[in-house]
Amino acid sequence: MGSALRITNGRVYDPANGVDGRVQDVCIQDAKVVAEVPADARKIDATGMVVMPGGVDIHCHIAGPKVNLARKLQPEDKRLDVVPSTPYTRSGSGGIIPSTFATGYRYAAMGYTTAMEAAVTPIGARHVLEEFHDTPIIDKGFYVLLGNNVFLYRLLKEGRREEFREAVAWWVNATKAYTVKLVNPGSDELWKGRRNANISDLNENIDQFDLTPLDVIRAFIETVNDLGLPHPAHIHCNNLGHSGNATTTLDTMRAAEGRRVHIAHVQFHSYGGEPGKNPTSRGPEIADYINSHPNITADVGQVMFGKATAMTADAPLAHLLKGVSGNKWVNADTENESGCGIVPFTYQEKVYVHALQWAIGLELFLLSKDPWRILLSTDHPNGGSFTMYPKLIRLLMDREFRNDEIRKVNQRAIRKTCLGDDLDREYTLSEVAIISRAGPARALGLKDKGHLGVGADADITIYQDDPDKEKMFSTPRYVLKDGKLIIADHEFRADHDGRVLHATPAYDPDIEKAIRPFFEDYYSIRFDNYAVSDRYLHNHQVIPGQVIPAVQP
Ligand SMILES: [Zn+2]
Repeated sequence: MGSALRITNGRVYDPANGVDGRVQDVCIQDAKVVAEVPADARKIDATGMVVMPGGVDIHCHIAGPKVNLARKLQPEDKRLDVVPSTPYTRSGSGGIIPSTFATGYRYAAMGYTTAMEAAVTPIGARHVLEEFHDTPIIDKGFYVLLGNNVFLYRLLKEGRREEFREAVAWWVNATKAYTVKLVNPGSDELWKGRRNANISDLNENIDQFDLTPLDVIRAFIETVNDLGLPHPAHIHCNNLGHSGNATTTLDTMRAAEGRRVHIAHVQFHSYGGEPGKNPTSRGPEIADYINSHPNITADVGQVMFGKATAMTADAPLAHLLKGVSGNKWVNADTENESGCGIVPFTYQEKVYVHALQWAIGLELFLLSKDPWRILLSTDHPNGGSFTMYPKLIRLLMDREFRNDEIRKVNQRAIRKTCLGDDLDREYTLSEVAIISRAGPARALGLKDKGHLGVGADADITIYQDDPDKEKMFSTPRYVLKDGKLIIADHEFRADHDGRVLHATPAYDPDIEKAIRPFFEDYYSIRFDNYAVSDRYLHNHQVIPGQVIPAVQP
Protein backbone atom coordinates (compact mmCIF):
# COMPACT_ATOMS: atom_id res chain seq x y z
CA MET A 1 0.00 0.00 0.00
CA GLY A 2 2.77 2.39 0.95
CA SER A 3 0.39 4.95 2.43
CA ALA A 4 1.91 7.39 4.88
CA LEU A 5 -0.10 9.62 7.16
CA ARG A 6 0.67 12.21 9.82
CA ILE A 7 -1.83 13.18 12.52
CA THR A 8 -0.73 16.67 13.51
CA ASN A 9 -1.15 18.76 16.65
CA GLY A 10 -3.54 16.46 18.53
CA ARG A 11 -3.52 16.10 22.31
CA VAL A 12 -2.23 12.54 22.62
CA TYR A 13 -3.28 10.20 25.45
CA ASP A 14 -0.97 7.17 25.31
CA PRO A 15 -0.58 6.03 28.92
CA ALA A 16 1.44 2.92 28.02
CA ASN A 17 4.17 5.26 26.79
CA GLY A 18 3.74 7.89 29.52
CA VAL A 19 2.11 10.44 27.21
CA ASP A 20 -0.62 12.32 29.07
CA GLY A 21 -2.25 14.91 26.84
CA ARG A 22 0.96 16.19 25.21
CA VAL A 23 0.47 17.91 21.85
CA GLN A 24 2.47 15.84 19.38
CA ASP A 25 2.24 14.24 15.94
CA VAL A 26 1.51 10.56 15.35
CA CYS A 27 3.02 9.08 12.17
CA ILE A 28 1.64 6.07 10.33
CA GLN A 29 3.15 4.00 7.56
CA ASP A 30 0.91 1.27 6.14
CA ALA A 31 -0.74 -0.40 9.12
CA LYS A 32 1.73 0.61 11.85
CA VAL A 33 2.75 3.59 13.94
CA VAL A 34 6.23 4.75 12.90
CA ALA A 35 8.67 7.40 14.12
CA GLU A 36 8.59 9.61 11.02
CA VAL A 37 7.00 9.85 7.59
CA PRO A 38 8.06 11.85 4.50
CA ALA A 39 7.17 15.54 4.52
CA ASP A 40 4.67 15.06 1.69
CA ALA A 41 2.65 12.43 3.61
CA ARG A 42 -1.08 12.99 3.90
CA LYS A 43 -2.13 14.88 7.04
CA ILE A 44 -5.02 14.92 9.46
CA ASP A 45 -5.15 18.18 11.37
CA ALA A 46 -6.13 17.19 14.92
CA THR A 47 -5.66 20.65 16.45
CA GLY A 48 -7.81 20.87 19.60
CA MET A 49 -8.70 17.18 19.36
CA VAL A 50 -7.94 14.18 21.58
CA VAL A 51 -5.94 11.29 20.08
CA MET A 52 -6.13 7.83 21.66
CA PRO A 53 -5.40 4.26 20.64
CA GLY A 54 -8.51 2.40 19.39
CA GLY A 55 -10.70 0.95 22.14
CA VAL A 56 -10.23 -2.68 23.22
CA ASP A 57 -13.21 -4.55 24.71
CA ILE A 58 -11.93 -7.39 26.89
CA HIS A 59 -15.33 -8.97 27.57
CA CYS A 60 -18.46 -8.96 25.41
CA HIS A 61 -20.76 -11.40 23.64
CA ILE A 62 -20.93 -10.66 19.94
CA ALA A 63 -20.83 -13.90 17.93
CA GLY A 64 -21.84 -17.55 17.92
CA PRO A 65 -24.82 -19.78 18.60
CA LYS A 66 -26.01 -18.12 21.83
CA VAL A 67 -25.74 -14.61 20.36
CA ASN A 68 -27.65 -15.68 17.28
CA LEU A 69 -30.32 -17.36 19.41
CA ALA A 70 -30.73 -14.14 21.38
CA ARG A 71 -31.15 -12.19 18.12
CA LYS A 72 -33.87 -14.56 17.00
CA LEU A 73 -35.57 -14.40 20.37
CA GLN A 74 -36.20 -10.63 20.08
CA PRO A 75 -37.48 -9.71 16.61
CA GLU A 76 -39.39 -6.78 18.16
CA ASP A 77 -36.09 -5.26 19.26
CA LYS A 78 -34.64 -5.46 15.72
CA ARG A 79 -37.67 -3.99 13.98
CA LEU A 80 -37.18 -0.70 15.84
CA ASP A 81 -33.55 -0.29 14.82
CA VAL A 82 -32.91 -0.85 11.11
CA VAL A 83 -29.36 -0.14 9.93
CA PRO A 84 -29.44 0.88 6.24
CA SER A 85 -26.45 0.35 3.97
CA THR A 86 -24.25 3.27 2.91
CA PRO A 87 -21.81 3.56 -0.01
CA TYR A 88 -19.20 2.01 2.29
CA THR A 89 -21.06 -0.17 4.77
CA ARG A 90 -23.57 -3.01 4.58
CA SER A 91 -27.05 -3.11 6.03
CA GLY A 92 -28.09 -4.88 9.21
CA SER A 93 -30.14 -4.46 12.32
CA GLY A 94 -29.33 -3.00 15.71
CA GLY A 95 -31.15 -3.37 19.00
CA ILE A 96 -29.57 -4.78 22.09
CA ILE A 97 -27.82 -7.48 20.03
CA PRO A 98 -26.91 -6.00 16.65
CA SER A 99 -26.45 -8.21 13.58
CA THR A 100 -22.87 -9.16 12.68
CA PHE A 101 -22.19 -6.28 10.31
CA ALA A 102 -23.87 -3.71 12.56
CA THR A 103 -21.79 -4.97 15.49
CA GLY A 104 -18.53 -4.18 13.72
CA TYR A 105 -19.74 -0.79 12.51
CA ARG A 106 -21.15 0.25 15.91
CA TYR A 107 -17.91 -0.61 17.69
CA ALA A 108 -15.96 1.33 15.07
CA ALA A 109 -18.37 4.27 15.23
CA MET A 110 -17.58 4.49 18.95
CA GLY A 111 -13.80 4.37 18.35
CA TYR A 112 -13.34 0.72 19.34
CA THR A 113 -11.16 -1.42 17.11
CA THR A 114 -10.83 -4.74 19.03
CA ALA A 115 -13.41 -6.85 20.90
CA MET A 116 -13.17 -10.26 22.56
CA GLU A 117 -16.14 -12.67 22.57
CA ALA A 118 -16.05 -14.07 26.07
CA ALA A 119 -17.80 -17.47 26.02
CA VAL A 120 -17.83 -20.05 23.25
CA THR A 121 -18.42 -23.79 23.50
CA PRO A 122 -15.82 -25.76 21.52
CA ILE A 123 -18.57 -27.09 19.26
CA GLY A 124 -19.66 -23.47 18.61
CA ALA A 125 -16.22 -22.31 17.44
CA ARG A 126 -16.98 -22.72 13.71
CA HIS A 127 -20.13 -20.63 14.03
CA VAL A 128 -18.20 -17.92 15.88
CA LEU A 129 -15.47 -17.82 13.25
CA GLU A 130 -18.07 -17.57 10.48
CA GLU A 131 -19.78 -14.67 12.23
CA PHE A 132 -16.40 -13.04 12.90
CA HIS A 133 -15.83 -13.15 9.14
CA ASP A 134 -19.00 -11.04 8.80
CA THR A 135 -18.10 -8.65 11.65
CA PRO A 136 -16.25 -5.85 9.87
CA ILE A 137 -13.46 -3.47 10.87
CA ILE A 138 -12.65 -4.71 14.38
CA ASP A 139 -10.11 -7.37 15.34
CA LYS A 140 -11.64 -10.08 17.50
CA GLY A 141 -10.93 -13.32 19.32
CA PHE A 142 -12.81 -15.61 21.69
CA TYR A 143 -12.44 -17.53 24.94
CA VAL A 144 -13.30 -21.22 24.82
CA LEU A 145 -15.48 -22.74 27.57
CA LEU A 146 -13.64 -25.64 29.20
CA GLY A 147 -14.58 -25.26 32.89
CA ASN A 148 -17.35 -27.88 32.87
CA ASN A 149 -15.71 -30.28 30.42
CA VAL A 150 -16.37 -33.90 31.41
CA PHE A 151 -13.28 -35.33 29.71
CA LEU A 152 -11.02 -32.80 31.44
CA TYR A 153 -12.77 -33.53 34.77
CA ARG A 154 -11.96 -37.23 34.32
CA LEU A 155 -8.28 -36.45 33.79
CA LEU A 156 -8.26 -34.26 36.91
CA LYS A 157 -10.09 -36.86 38.98
CA GLU A 158 -7.56 -39.52 37.96
CA GLY A 159 -4.64 -37.21 38.77
CA ARG A 160 -3.47 -37.13 35.11
CA ARG A 161 -2.26 -33.53 35.30
CA GLU A 162 0.24 -33.76 32.42
CA GLU A 163 -2.46 -35.03 30.09
CA PHE A 164 -4.87 -32.37 31.42
CA ARG A 165 -2.39 -29.71 30.36
CA GLU A 166 -1.87 -31.24 26.92
CA ALA A 167 -5.64 -31.59 26.42
CA VAL A 168 -6.31 -27.94 27.36
CA ALA A 169 -3.66 -26.85 24.83
CA TRP A 170 -5.16 -29.21 22.23
CA TRP A 171 -8.64 -27.71 22.73
CA VAL A 172 -7.37 -24.14 22.38
CA ASN A 173 -5.67 -25.10 19.11
CA ALA A 174 -8.58 -27.21 17.85
CA THR A 175 -11.02 -24.30 18.26
CA LYS A 176 -8.68 -21.35 17.34
CA ALA A 177 -9.42 -19.76 20.72
CA TYR A 178 -7.54 -16.99 22.49
CA THR A 179 -7.68 -18.35 26.02
CA VAL A 180 -9.75 -20.54 28.34
CA LYS A 181 -13.01 -19.45 29.98
CA LEU A 182 -14.53 -20.97 33.11
CA VAL A 183 -18.20 -20.31 33.89
CA ASN A 184 -19.66 -21.37 37.22
CA PRO A 185 -17.19 -24.30 37.34
CA GLY A 186 -18.72 -27.56 38.51
CA SER A 187 -22.32 -26.42 38.21
CA ASP A 188 -23.22 -28.07 34.90
CA GLU A 189 -23.03 -31.58 36.34
CA LEU A 190 -25.48 -30.68 39.10
CA TRP A 191 -27.73 -28.66 36.80
CA LYS A 192 -28.02 -31.46 34.28
CA GLY A 193 -28.01 -34.29 36.77
CA ARG A 194 -30.51 -33.02 39.33
CA ARG A 195 -33.51 -30.75 39.03
CA ASN A 196 -32.36 -27.08 38.96
CA ALA A 197 -29.39 -27.78 41.25
CA ASN A 198 -26.39 -25.42 41.47
CA ILE A 199 -23.05 -25.29 43.27
CA SER A 200 -22.91 -22.76 46.09
CA ASP A 201 -19.59 -23.51 47.80
CA LEU A 202 -16.18 -24.00 46.20
CA ASN A 203 -15.55 -27.02 48.46
CA GLU A 204 -18.75 -28.84 47.47
CA ASN A 205 -18.39 -32.11 45.59
CA ILE A 206 -19.14 -32.10 41.85
CA ASP A 207 -21.52 -35.07 41.95
CA GLN A 208 -19.95 -38.26 40.56
CA PHE A 209 -16.52 -36.65 40.19
CA ASP A 210 -14.38 -36.73 43.24
CA LEU A 211 -13.57 -33.07 42.62
CA THR A 212 -14.55 -29.64 43.93
CA PRO A 213 -14.89 -26.35 42.02
CA LEU A 214 -11.77 -25.22 43.88
CA ASP A 215 -9.78 -28.17 42.41
CA VAL A 216 -11.03 -27.23 38.94
CA ILE A 217 -10.28 -23.51 39.35
CA ARG A 218 -6.75 -24.15 40.66
CA ALA A 219 -5.98 -26.63 37.87
CA PHE A 220 -7.06 -24.22 35.13
CA ILE A 221 -5.32 -21.16 36.57
CA GLU A 222 -2.09 -23.12 36.92
CA THR A 223 -2.32 -24.79 33.50
CA VAL A 224 -3.17 -21.64 31.53
CA ASN A 225 -0.25 -19.86 33.22
CA ASP A 226 2.10 -22.80 32.49
CA LEU A 227 1.00 -22.86 28.85
CA GLY A 228 1.91 -19.16 28.67
CA LEU A 229 -1.29 -18.12 26.88
CA PRO A 230 -1.36 -14.37 26.15
CA HIS A 231 -4.31 -13.92 28.55
CA PRO A 232 -4.81 -15.95 31.77
CA ALA A 233 -7.81 -18.11 32.68
CA HIS A 234 -10.87 -15.85 32.33
CA ILE A 235 -13.27 -16.75 35.13
CA HIS A 236 -16.99 -16.17 35.64
CA CYS A 237 -17.08 -17.15 39.31
CA ASN A 238 -19.65 -19.38 40.97
CA ASN A 239 -22.86 -17.93 42.45
CA LEU A 240 -23.23 -15.05 39.98
CA GLY A 241 -26.06 -12.76 41.06
CA HIS A 242 -26.61 -14.45 44.43
CA SER A 243 -26.56 -12.52 47.72
CA GLY A 244 -23.36 -13.19 49.63
CA ASN A 245 -21.41 -14.26 46.53
CA ALA A 246 -18.46 -11.97 47.37
CA THR A 247 -17.24 -14.88 49.53
CA THR A 248 -16.96 -17.21 46.52
CA THR A 249 -15.33 -14.44 44.49
CA LEU A 250 -12.67 -13.87 47.18
CA ASP A 251 -12.11 -17.66 47.45
CA THR A 252 -11.60 -17.82 43.68
CA MET A 253 -9.10 -14.94 43.69
CA ARG A 254 -7.22 -16.52 46.61
CA ALA A 255 -7.01 -19.80 44.69
CA ALA A 256 -4.72 -18.07 42.18
CA GLU A 257 -1.98 -17.88 44.86
CA GLY A 258 -0.26 -15.02 43.07
CA ARG A 259 -0.71 -16.45 39.57
CA ARG A 260 -2.34 -14.35 36.88
CA VAL A 261 -6.12 -14.63 36.63
CA HIS A 262 -8.89 -12.49 35.12
CA ILE A 263 -12.20 -12.16 36.98
CA ALA A 264 -15.04 -11.42 34.56
CA HIS A 265 -17.81 -8.85 35.23
CA VAL A 266 -16.82 -8.60 38.89
CA GLN A 267 -19.77 -6.33 39.73
CA PHE A 268 -22.09 -9.34 39.41
CA HIS A 269 -19.90 -11.13 41.99
CA SER A 270 -19.57 -8.46 44.71
CA TYR A 271 -22.74 -8.96 46.74
CA GLY A 272 -23.24 -9.26 50.47
CA GLY A 273 -26.30 -10.41 52.38
CA GLU A 274 -27.82 -13.80 53.11
CA PRO A 275 -28.47 -16.23 50.22
CA GLY A 276 -32.11 -15.99 49.17
CA LYS A 277 -32.52 -12.50 50.69
CA ASN A 278 -31.92 -9.06 49.18
CA PRO A 279 -28.26 -8.37 48.34
CA THR A 280 -26.09 -5.66 49.88
CA SER A 281 -22.78 -4.31 48.61
CA ARG A 282 -19.39 -5.83 49.27
CA GLY A 283 -17.94 -3.80 46.39
CA PRO A 284 -15.39 -1.97 48.58
CA GLU A 285 -14.01 -5.26 49.93
CA ILE A 286 -13.64 -6.72 46.43
CA ALA A 287 -12.01 -3.51 45.14
CA ASP A 288 -9.56 -3.62 48.08
CA TYR A 289 -8.62 -7.22 47.36
CA ILE A 290 -7.97 -6.51 43.67
CA ASN A 291 -6.08 -3.28 44.54
CA SER A 292 -3.67 -5.21 46.73
CA HIS A 293 -3.16 -8.24 44.42
CA PRO A 294 -1.34 -7.24 41.22
CA ASN A 295 -1.77 -10.74 39.70
CA ILE A 296 -5.50 -10.07 39.29
CA THR A 297 -7.25 -8.21 36.48
CA ALA A 298 -11.01 -7.79 36.28
CA ASP A 299 -13.61 -6.15 34.10
CA VAL A 300 -16.50 -4.48 35.90
CA GLY A 301 -19.61 -5.65 34.02
CA GLN A 302 -21.38 -2.36 34.76
CA VAL A 303 -25.17 -2.44 34.75
CA MET A 304 -26.72 0.39 32.72
CA PHE A 305 -30.43 1.16 33.02
CA GLY A 306 -32.57 0.10 30.10
CA LYS A 307 -32.64 -2.93 27.88
CA ALA A 308 -30.19 -5.79 28.34
CA THR A 309 -30.11 -9.50 27.63
CA ALA A 310 -28.78 -12.05 30.07
CA MET A 311 -26.76 -14.37 27.87
CA THR A 312 -24.65 -16.86 29.71
CA ALA A 313 -23.15 -20.32 29.88
CA ASP A 314 -24.40 -20.29 33.49
CA ALA A 315 -27.65 -22.23 32.96
CA PRO A 316 -28.81 -22.21 36.61
CA LEU A 317 -28.45 -18.41 36.64
CA ALA A 318 -30.56 -18.04 33.47
CA HIS A 319 -33.21 -20.21 35.09
CA LEU A 320 -33.20 -17.96 38.16
CA LEU A 321 -33.47 -14.78 36.03
CA LYS A 322 -36.31 -16.22 34.00
CA GLY A 323 -38.20 -16.56 37.29
CA VAL A 324 -37.45 -12.91 38.14
CA SER A 325 -38.29 -11.40 34.76
CA GLY A 326 -41.23 -13.62 33.79
CA ASN A 327 -40.01 -13.02 30.24
CA LYS A 328 -39.06 -15.26 27.33
CA TRP A 329 -36.31 -17.76 28.08
CA VAL A 330 -34.10 -20.14 26.14
CA ASN A 331 -32.01 -22.85 27.71
CA ALA A 332 -29.88 -24.74 25.23
CA ASP A 333 -26.98 -27.14 25.15
CA THR A 334 -25.18 -28.96 22.39
CA GLU A 335 -23.08 -32.07 23.02
CA ASN A 336 -23.10 -31.38 26.78
CA GLU A 337 -20.06 -29.12 26.48
CA SER A 338 -21.49 -26.30 28.61
CA GLY A 339 -24.74 -24.79 29.82
CA CYS A 340 -26.41 -21.84 28.14
CA GLY A 341 -29.33 -19.60 28.96
CA ILE A 342 -30.80 -16.43 27.42
CA VAL A 343 -33.28 -14.08 29.10
CA PRO A 344 -34.25 -10.61 27.74
CA PHE A 345 -34.06 -8.21 30.68
CA THR A 346 -34.64 -4.54 31.54
CA TYR A 347 -32.73 -2.79 34.34
CA GLN A 348 -34.89 -0.19 36.11
CA GLU A 349 -33.71 2.76 38.20
CA LYS A 350 -36.38 2.36 40.87
CA VAL A 351 -35.88 -1.36 41.48
CA TYR A 352 -33.74 -1.93 44.58
CA VAL A 353 -31.62 -4.78 43.19
CA HIS A 354 -31.01 -3.11 39.81
CA ALA A 355 -30.02 0.21 41.42
CA LEU A 356 -27.72 -1.67 43.80
CA GLN A 357 -26.01 -3.45 40.90
CA TRP A 358 -25.53 -0.14 39.07
CA ALA A 359 -24.11 1.46 42.22
CA ILE A 360 -21.73 -1.45 42.99
CA GLY A 361 -20.24 -1.17 39.49
CA LEU A 362 -19.57 2.52 40.12
CA GLU A 363 -18.07 1.73 43.55
CA LEU A 364 -15.63 -0.69 41.94
CA PHE A 365 -14.55 1.91 39.39
CA LEU A 366 -14.32 4.76 41.88
CA LEU A 367 -12.44 2.74 44.53
CA SER A 368 -10.01 1.22 42.03
CA LYS A 369 -6.42 2.24 42.77
CA ASP A 370 -5.05 0.72 39.58
CA PRO A 371 -7.00 1.51 36.40
CA TRP A 372 -4.74 -0.96 34.54
CA ARG A 373 -6.48 -3.81 36.34
CA ILE A 374 -10.14 -2.82 36.86
CA LEU A 375 -11.35 -2.50 33.30
CA LEU A 376 -14.37 -1.12 31.50
CA SER A 377 -17.15 -3.47 30.39
CA THR A 378 -20.91 -3.88 30.61
CA ASP A 379 -20.52 -7.58 29.85
CA HIS A 380 -22.47 -6.67 26.70
CA PRO A 381 -25.37 -7.38 26.47
CA ASN A 382 -25.71 -8.71 30.05
CA GLY A 383 -25.38 -5.43 31.95
CA GLY A 384 -26.37 -3.32 28.93
CA SER A 385 -25.21 -2.70 25.38
CA PHE A 386 -21.60 -1.82 24.53
CA THR A 387 -23.09 1.32 22.98
CA MET A 388 -23.62 2.54 26.57
CA TYR A 389 -19.83 2.89 27.12
CA PRO A 390 -19.84 6.64 26.38
CA LYS A 391 -22.51 7.23 29.03
CA LEU A 392 -20.55 5.07 31.48
CA ILE A 393 -17.41 7.10 30.75
CA ARG A 394 -19.38 10.28 31.52
CA LEU A 395 -20.52 8.76 34.85
CA LEU A 396 -16.85 8.21 35.72
CA MET A 397 -15.53 11.56 34.46
CA ASP A 398 -18.26 13.96 35.53
CA ARG A 399 -19.06 14.03 39.26
CA GLU A 400 -21.98 16.44 38.94
CA PHE A 401 -23.64 14.32 36.26
CA ARG A 402 -23.05 11.23 38.38
CA ASN A 403 -24.58 12.78 41.46
CA ASP A 404 -27.65 13.83 39.44
CA GLU A 405 -28.02 10.25 38.23
CA ILE A 406 -27.52 8.87 41.76
CA ARG A 407 -30.42 11.01 42.98
CA LYS A 408 -32.77 9.45 40.37
CA VAL A 409 -32.33 5.84 41.46
CA ASN A 410 -33.67 3.75 44.35
CA GLN A 411 -32.25 5.49 47.45
CA ARG A 412 -32.53 2.46 49.71
CA ALA A 413 -30.00 0.80 47.39
CA ILE A 414 -27.69 3.83 47.38
CA ARG A 415 -27.66 3.82 51.21
CA LYS A 416 -26.25 0.27 51.08
CA THR A 417 -23.20 1.54 49.15
CA CYS A 418 -20.58 4.23 49.67
CA LEU A 419 -21.84 6.27 46.68
CA GLY A 420 -23.86 8.44 49.07
CA ASP A 421 -20.56 9.58 50.63
CA ASP A 422 -20.09 11.76 47.53
CA LEU A 423 -17.08 9.91 46.17
CA ASP A 424 -15.55 12.90 44.41
CA ARG A 425 -13.22 11.04 42.10
CA GLU A 426 -13.40 12.02 38.47
CA TYR A 427 -11.58 9.83 35.96
CA THR A 428 -9.09 11.74 33.82
CA LEU A 429 -8.81 11.28 30.06
CA SER A 430 -5.64 9.35 30.70
CA GLU A 431 -7.42 6.98 33.11
CA VAL A 432 -10.22 6.50 30.58
CA ALA A 433 -7.58 5.65 27.97
CA ILE A 434 -6.26 3.04 30.43
CA ILE A 435 -9.56 1.31 31.35
CA SER A 436 -10.80 1.22 27.75
CA ARG A 437 -7.58 0.70 25.76
CA ALA A 438 -4.16 0.37 27.34
CA GLY A 439 -5.34 -1.77 30.30
CA PRO A 440 -7.37 -4.34 28.34
CA ALA A 441 -4.58 -4.59 25.73
CA ARG A 442 -2.02 -5.27 28.47
CA ALA A 443 -4.26 -7.79 30.25
CA LEU A 444 -4.76 -9.55 26.90
CA GLY A 445 -1.05 -9.61 26.12
CA LEU A 446 -1.69 -7.60 22.92
CA LYS A 447 1.66 -5.86 22.67
CA ASP A 448 0.80 -3.97 19.48
CA LYS A 449 -2.51 -2.62 20.74
CA GLY A 450 -3.69 -0.11 23.32
CA HIS A 451 -0.75 2.23 22.67
CA LEU A 452 0.68 4.59 20.03
CA GLY A 453 4.39 3.84 20.29
CA VAL A 454 6.49 2.87 17.27
CA GLY A 455 5.41 -0.60 16.07
CA ALA A 456 1.86 -0.34 17.42
CA ASP A 457 -1.03 -1.28 15.15
CA ALA A 458 -2.32 1.96 13.65
CA ASP A 459 -5.75 1.57 15.32
CA ILE A 460 -6.40 5.16 16.34
CA THR A 461 -9.39 7.23 17.44
CA ILE A 462 -9.55 11.02 17.31
CA TYR A 463 -12.24 12.72 19.37
CA GLN A 464 -13.49 16.28 19.21
CA ASP A 465 -13.01 17.43 22.82
CA ASP A 466 -16.31 18.28 24.48
CA PRO A 467 -17.33 19.00 28.08
CA ASP A 468 -20.13 16.45 27.57
CA LYS A 469 -18.00 13.29 27.68
CA GLU A 470 -20.89 11.07 26.60
CA LYS A 471 -21.22 13.07 23.40
CA MET A 472 -17.47 13.15 22.91
CA PHE A 473 -16.97 9.37 23.25
CA SER A 474 -20.12 8.52 21.23
CA THR A 475 -19.02 10.10 17.99
CA PRO A 476 -15.30 10.24 17.26
CA ARG A 477 -14.30 12.62 14.49
CA TYR A 478 -11.83 10.15 12.92
CA VAL A 479 -11.25 6.42 13.31
CA LEU A 480 -8.32 4.59 11.74
CA LYS A 481 -8.03 0.81 11.62
CA ASP A 482 -4.69 -0.68 10.50
CA GLY A 483 -3.80 2.79 9.23
CA LYS A 484 -6.89 2.96 7.01
CA LEU A 485 -9.23 5.92 7.43
CA ILE A 486 -12.56 4.27 8.30
CA ILE A 487 -14.42 7.29 9.70
CA ALA A 488 -13.78 10.94 8.85
CA ASP A 489 -15.89 13.86 10.05
CA HIS A 490 -18.10 11.32 11.87
CA GLU A 491 -18.99 9.48 8.63
CA PHE A 492 -17.89 6.08 7.32
CA ARG A 493 -15.40 6.45 4.48
CA ALA A 494 -14.30 2.83 4.08
CA ASP A 495 -15.01 -0.73 5.11
CA HIS A 496 -12.35 -3.11 6.38
CA ASP A 497 -11.78 -6.76 7.33
CA GLY A 498 -10.48 -7.11 10.86
CA ARG A 499 -8.37 -10.04 11.99
CA VAL A 500 -9.13 -13.05 14.16
CA LEU A 501 -6.69 -13.10 17.08
CA HIS A 502 -5.89 -16.53 18.49
CA ALA A 503 -3.31 -18.50 20.44
CA THR A 504 -1.49 -21.68 19.49
CA PRO A 505 0.06 -23.19 22.65
CA ALA A 506 2.37 -26.15 21.98
CA TYR A 507 1.09 -29.65 22.86
CA ASP A 508 2.07 -33.27 22.40
CA PRO A 509 -0.07 -34.70 19.54
CA ASP A 510 -0.17 -38.03 21.40
CA ILE A 511 -2.92 -36.49 23.58
CA GLU A 512 -5.33 -37.10 20.68
CA LYS A 513 -5.03 -40.85 21.43
CA ALA A 514 -6.50 -40.20 24.86
CA ILE A 515 -9.25 -37.85 23.63
CA ARG A 516 -10.40 -39.89 20.58
CA PRO A 517 -12.07 -42.80 22.43
CA PHE A 518 -14.08 -40.33 24.54
CA PHE A 519 -15.45 -38.79 21.34
CA GLU A 520 -16.29 -42.14 19.87
CA ASP A 521 -18.23 -43.06 23.00
CA TYR A 522 -20.16 -39.84 23.58
CA TYR A 523 -20.09 -37.25 20.79
CA SER A 524 -22.41 -37.26 17.81
CA ILE A 525 -19.62 -35.72 15.72
CA ARG A 526 -16.59 -37.75 14.59
CA PHE A 527 -13.33 -36.81 16.26
CA ASP A 528 -11.68 -36.21 12.85
CA ASN A 529 -14.36 -33.62 12.04
CA TYR A 530 -14.19 -31.78 15.35
CA ALA A 531 -11.10 -29.59 15.14
CA VAL A 532 -11.76 -26.39 13.17
CA SER A 533 -9.78 -26.25 9.93
CA ASP A 534 -7.59 -23.27 9.03
CA ARG A 535 -9.91 -22.23 6.22
CA TYR A 536 -12.27 -20.80 8.86
CA LEU A 537 -9.66 -18.23 9.81
CA HIS A 538 -9.45 -15.89 6.79
CA ASN A 539 -7.57 -12.86 8.13
CA HIS A 540 -5.89 -13.92 11.32
CA GLN A 541 -2.97 -13.35 13.64
CA VAL A 542 -1.39 -15.71 16.15
CA ILE A 543 -0.71 -13.81 19.36
CA PRO A 544 2.43 -15.15 21.05
CA GLY A 545 2.20 -16.30 24.63
CA GLN A 546 3.72 -14.67 27.67
CA VAL A 547 4.95 -16.39 30.78
CA ILE A 548 4.58 -14.13 33.81
CA PRO A 549 5.86 -15.51 37.12
CA ALA A 550 3.49 -15.65 40.08
CA VAL A 551 3.57 -12.72 42.51
CA GLN A 552 4.68 -13.76 45.99
CA PRO A 553 1.85 -12.88 48.38
ZN1 LIG B 1 -19.96 -12.36 29.85
